[in-house]
Amino acid sequence: MSQQNLHPVHSATSYYVDVILPLAIARPYTYAVPEELVPEIQVGIRVEVQFGKSKLYTGLVMRVHHEVPNQQRPKPIISVIDEQPIVTEQQFKLWRWMAGYYLCSLGEVMNAALPANFKLTSETRVTLGPLFHQDPALLSDKEYLVAEALSIQEELSIEDLQDILGQKTVYPIIRRLLDKRIVYLKEDLQEKYRPKKILCVRFQEPFASDPNSLHLAFELVARSTKQETALLAYVQTSKQQEFVRQSELIRQSDTDHSTIKAMVKKEIFEVYEREISRLGSYEEDTLDAATLAPQQTRALGEIKAHFADKGVVLLHGVTGSGKTRVYLELMQEVINQGGQVLYLLPEIALTTQIIERVQKVLGDDVMVYHSRLNHNERIELWQKVQAGKGAVVGPRSAMFLPYQQLSLVIVDEEHDPSYKQRDPNPRYHGRDTAIILAHQFGAKVLLGTATPALETYHNTQKGKYGLVLMNDRFGGIELPEIIIADARKAQLEQRMYNHFTDTLIDELKAALERGEQAILFQNRRGYSPTYRCPTCAWHSECVNCDVSLTYHKFQEMLKCHYCGYSTKLPTECPACGSTGLTMQGFGTEKIEDELKIFLPDAKIGRMDLDTVRGKNAHAKIIGEFEEGKIDILVGTQMVTKGLDFERVGVVGVLSADQLLQFPDLRASERGFQLMLQVAGRAGRKHRRGKVIIQAFNTAHPVIKEVLEGDYAAFYGRELKERHEFAYPPYMRLIRITLKHKKPQVVNDAMKLYAHWLKQQLGEWVLGPAVPYVGRVRNYYLLDVLIKLEMNPQKINFAKKHIHAATEQIKQTQGFSNVRVSIDVDPY
Ligand code: ADP
Ligand code: ZN
Ligand code: ZN
Repeated sequence: MSQQNLHPVHSATSYYVDVILPLAIARPYTYAVPEELVPEIQVGIRVEVQFGKSKLYTGLVMRVHHEVPNQQRPKPIISVIDEQPIVTEQQFKLWRWMAGYYLCSLGEVMNAALPANFKLTSETRVTLGPLFHQDPALLSDKEYLVAEALSIQEELSIEDLQDILGQKTVYPIIRRLLDKRIVYLKEDLQEKYRPKKILCVRFQEPFASDPNSLHLAFELVARSTKQETALLAYVQTSKQQEFVRQSELIRQSDTDHSTIKAMVKKEIFEVYEREISRLGSYEEDTLDAATLAPQQTRALGEIKAHFADKGVVLLHGVTGSGKTRVYLELMQEVINQGGQVLYLLPEIALTTQIIERVQKVLGDDVMVYHSRLNHNERIELWQKVQAGKGAVVGPRSAMFLPYQQLSLVIVDEEHDPSYKQRDPNPRYHGRDTAIILAHQFGAKVLLGTATPALETYHNTQKGKYGLVLMNDRFGGIELPEIIIADARKAQLEQRMYNHFTDTLIDELKAALERGEQAILFQNRRGYSPTYRCPTCAWHSECVNCDVSLTYHKFQEMLKCHYCGYSTKLPTECPACGSTGLTMQGFGTEKIEDELKIFLPDAKIGRMDLDTVRGKNAHAKIIGEFEEGKIDILVGTQMVTKGLDFERVGVVGVLSADQLLQFPDLRASERGFQLMLQVAGRAGRKHRRGKVIIQAFNTAHPVIKEVLEGDYAAFYGRELKERHEFAYPPYMRLIRITLKHKKPQVVNDAMKLYAHWLKQQLGEWVLGPAVPYVGRVRNYYLLDVLIKLEMNPQKINFAKKHIHAATEQIKQTQGFSNVRVSIDVDPY
C-alpha cells in the first residue's frame, strides 16, 4: 500500500460519525469528519475509512453526532462514497434487532445484508463491462481515465487505480462507474449466465408450411386415438401461441411421451429446444391464471379475518392443497393497494417451477431475488425496492432489501430448517427474523406449510397466531396411500433385492408400466458411508474431523462431508494389510447404481449435493424430470422441497428409521416433516399416488403418525416429550461452541468460560460437553448449552453475561485466538 497521506483533522471539527465496519468488532467505530466533507455526510451512506494499521474499508454511517469520543483521537474519514443513503432507517432497525437477539456484531449483520457490489474492499478488482461504448461525453475526466486504462488492461486492482488516478481515494469513482454499468466487479463476469431451455414441438414439413397437407397427417394417426388427440391439441394450441411446449401438449391432450415419440417417428412432429429468458418480462401465455377453488376462497377469507386482530397467521394445508395460489391472490390484493410484499422460500425451493407460477399470476409486478442474479442485477432490484415497487420473491436474504411500505410477508414452507443460517454469523432464523421485520412495518405475516414447525403450531394453540386449514388436495385428488415396507421381515423371508424390499421394487415397476415417474428419497449422499476392515475393525476416518469418510464411487474416492478432505480408496487395510475391506450402509449414489440392476430399462437421475454443484445443474435435473427424460429421481432432501410434478405416481423413502435416530432434539420433528413432504410429491394431478416407507425398525411412533398423516397425534406426543425434557418451545436454547486447534487450549478456555457463566447463570448452564462431532477441520470443539425460560428479562440477563464472558475470554492471555460461536435458537 502506498504511503498514508490522510486529511488532517481540523481542530475546529466537531462532527463525528459512528461507522459500521464489515468486521466482527463489537461496536461501530467512531471517526472524525473533516470540515470539507461535513456537507456530504448523512446517515446511511458509505464512507472510506482506515482501520488498524493500514487497511482501508468501506463502512456505513449509522449515526452523525458531536460527542467527542473518549477513545484516542479518532481518525478522519478518507472519502464519502455515496450521495444518497443506500440503507434506510428501517433497515438499521432490523440490523440492530438481529445483532442484539443473535448476539453478533452489526458488521456481521451488514455483511449478510448488503449485496457484494456495495462492499468494496482493498481486494476488489474491476473490469470493463460488456456494454461499454466509449463515449467520453458521459464520463468525467477521471472516470474516463479508468475506462481507458481498462480497455488496455483487462482488470485493475484498487492499488492500480490509485496509481492511475494519482490519488488515494478511488471508491467514489468506482461506485459511479458501477452505477453507469461501465465497470463490473471481477467475480461478477465469472458467473456465466445461461438461459433456460425448454422442449417444444412443431410440425415437420410439409405440414409446417402447407396447411392443406394437414389431412395427410390425420391419415397417418388414424389408427391411434391418442395420437389423433395430440394432433388436434397441437393444431389448436399452435393457433393461439407462438410455440408449443412438449409438456403442455402432453397435458392438454392427456397423452404421454411415447405418443409424441411415435409421431416424431412418423415424421409429423419434431421436438426442438427453445430458449426462454429467466429474468426478462414474462413472455409465455397466461391462459390459466385460473379462479380459486372453494377451499381456497374460504381459506383466503379466514386469513383476512384473522389479520384483523392477529399479526401472524399459519396456513396449514396438506401438500397439493393449493396454498401457493392463495398466497398469490393475497399478494395481488396487497400490490393493488400499493403495498409491498415479500414472499420468502427456502433457497433450494426457489426453482424455475415456482418462479414461473408466480410470474404467471403476478406478471411484471414481481421481482425474483435468486442466487443466479449477478451483482448488478441485485443492485437493480435493490433500487426498485427502494423506489417502493411491488413484490419480491426470494430466499431469507431478500428480507434485507430496502422496503418502503412493506405490508405483507409470506413465509412458504415455514418449517424448513434451511431458513436458519448456521454459519457464519449472524446465525439467524429467516422465519423468525421476517416476523420481526413485518412487525417493525406493521405488516402482516402468513406462514404456510403442510407440516408446521412445532413452535409455530404451538403459537396457534396459544392463540398468538391465527390458524387456517386446507385439508383437501386441489382437484379432489386423494392424498397418497402410504405403505410401510418392513425391511427386517423382508430380509428374514429373503425378499430383499439388495437394499430394496420387494414391495418397493414391485411398485416402481408398476408405476413405470403405467407411464408414471417415481422419486426415491435417501438422506445420505455418496455411495457408502462406512468403509471398514472386518479383520481388525479399522474404518476410514477423516484426518481433519472426527467423522468417517464416505465412499464416492464415481471418483473412486473417500470423502469427508464436513471439510471436503478426500483420499484415494485403499485397496488393503492400512492397519493390518488385509484385503477384504467392506462397505456398510448406502447413499444416493449406490441407490442409483443398484436400481439400474433391478430396473434396467428405467432412466434414472440423481439430485444431491454432488450432482447440483454447477450453477444451473439443479434446474437442469428438475427440467429433465419434468420433460420425462428421467423416470426415477433419486435424491437427498432436495427432492422433498415444494416440487410439483404431474406424473409422479410413486415415492419411496429408503431409511425411514435412520432419519429418526439422529442425536438431535428435533430428529422426530424433522423426520416427520421430511417424510410427509416427500410423500406429498406423489400423485398430485391425475390419480392417487403411493408412498412406500421402508425401514428396519417400523415400530417408531413417528412412522405410525406418518402412515396416518396424523399431524395432531404427532404434535401432541412430541410436545409432551419436549415439555418433559424442558426443550423448545417451552424453553429457549443458546448453544455456545469454543474451538481451537489444540485440545488443551480449548479445554482450559472452556473451563474458565463455563465457570464465569455458571457464576452468573447457575443451573441454566449445561455442560461443557464434546459435541456429536468433536473435531472439525482440525479444530477441537466444546459446547455449553444454556436453557432459559421464556422470560424476556431473564433472557436479556443471560445474553448480557454471555456477551461479557465472550469479550473476556478473548482478552485473556493465551485464549485470544479461541473461537467462540454463539447460536441463539440452534435449530
Ligand atoms: P401446495 O403449495 O399446497 O402444495 P400447490 O399450490 O402446488 O399446492 O397446488 C397443487 C396443484 O394444484 C398445482 O399443480 C397447482 O397448479 C394446482 N392448482 C392450485 N390451485 C389452482 C387453481 N385455483 N386453479 C388451477 N390449478 C390450481
Ligand atoms: Zn484391518
Ligand atoms: Zn473432514
